[in-house]
Amino acid sequence: MNKVVQTDIVIMGGGIAGLWLLNRLRQTGLSVILLESGSLGGGQTHKAQGIIHGGMKYALHGQATAAAEAISDMPAIWKACLQGQGEIDLSNVPVLSNKQYLWSTGSLTSKVAGFIAGLTLKSHTEVLDKKNFPAIFQNPQFHGQVYSLEETVIDVYAMLRELMMPNQDIIFKIDPMEESHIELDEKDRLVSLKIHAAPMQTVHIQAQKYIFTAGGGNELLLKKLQHHKLGAQRRPLHMVLVKHDYDFPLYAHCLGLGTTPRLTITTHKAHDGKWIWYLGGQIAEEGVKLGTEEQTQVAKKELKELFPWLDFSKAEFASFYVDRAENSQPNGTRPDSCYFKEIENMIVAWPTKLAFAPLLATEIMQCLSHEKMKPCIADMRELRAWPIPALAKPIWDKLLS
Ligand SMILES: Cc1cc2nc3c(=O)[nH]c(=O)nc-3n(C[C@H](O)[C@H](O)[C@H](O)COP(=O)(O)OP(=O)(O)OC[C@H]3O[C@@H](n4cnc5c(N)ncnc54)[C@H](O)[C@@H]3O)c2cc1C
Repeated sequence: MNKVVQTDIVIMGGGIAGLWLLNRLRQTGLSVILLESGSLGGGQTHKAQGIIHGGMKYALHGQATAAAEAISDMPAIWKACLQGQGEIDLSNVPVLSNKQYLWSTGSLTSKVAGFIAGLTLKSHTEVLDKKNFPAIFQNPQFHGQVYSLEETVIDVYAMLRELMMPNQDIIFKIDPMEESHIELDEKDRLVSLKIHAAPMQTVHIQAQKYIFTAGGGNELLLKKLQHHKLGAQRRPLHMVLVKHDYDFPLYAHCLGLGTTPRLTITTHKAHDGKWIWYLGGQIAEEGVKLGTEEQTQVAKKELKELFPWLDFSKAEFASFYVDRAENSQPNGTRPDSCYFKEIENMIVAWPTKLAFAPLLATEIMQCLSHEKMKPCIADMRELRAWPIPALAKPIWDKLLS
């Protein structure tokens, strides 16, 4: 006889999108479960730099774009959560930095001044006096300008832990989607999802709503549904990690000539207490065709050019590839905001940025409330003995000694 689980909502995928939504939906009284085929946050989320963008990054050519406008409300929402006064209590999540700096090298300083003056973003931008520059830019060899942006940087691992902790009874580990079986009725409504945790453990999940927040895994779902109108895209990155002996925790974007920062640096602590600089931005976008050794050489060269007063010859470098997974866009460009699409009783969603997770959850909840979804009888007994997925470790713990 089939083992059946009944719930109002099932969420597939436990990155930031699924976990945030799980926490919000639980507040509504609807029964909800989350199924994860890997580790929680182990897709893109644990590789995120943790910056709660206010939009500056999307306005680097001097005008507030649609993307910059869309994201400009996010810092206030996150700030409330981090202070324990928001829609989710994240007061136990360490804030790594209250601000992100933006710096220009000497030759680009006048350009920066021009566009900063023209910006009308909600996120505040302050031109710093030299005496207020972060310690690393106090060196006489630095001839650029430094700005301070209201962009909080959070500890992503701690945030994942906080989103998981109160929900351990409704989060379950399953085998990858290749193994899941989706049963649709004649109207293309999903009637049952057959999932596995081990060869001997198989359960049929029946829900009112199936929400797919599986990041890159959403592609497989769309393929299984043979849904041709909604597409997914991936935008690759080749990120770099640098573990060094300097006591310069830096959270900053370096302005380049393009619309993406030349370098975006966040700083994280290794097990041994040393600082790790995590490098993204243009270097990560342009490095996707390079091998690890070549990308390391590019990173070393960049650091030498940007910080000629520091010596990284003894630093430990690592790099890795990762895809950003989103709904597809004309020309494969970055979507301006988060996105979800309802397909019968399913929702397929991508946050586009970690910072957009609250907005995505709110929009999905608004969609559900329009449909006046009511709690039905929930029966989760068959999942009682199922495993809980592990929390993904920070990427630097995996790649650096
Ligand atoms: C290098 C990098 C740095 C970034 N930095 C920032 C930043 O500083 N600030 C910011 O706002 N954004 C940042 N982002 C973007 C942000 O990380 C992503 O937009 C966000 O993490 C996506 O979350 P998600 O939940 O959609 O996907 P994911 O985090 O990829 O989660 C999807 C989950 O679904 C699971 N899954 C897959 N298939 C299945 C299946 N069939 N069944 C069940 N589970 C499944 C996966 O195992 C995974 O855990 C960054 C992204 C990258 C790649």
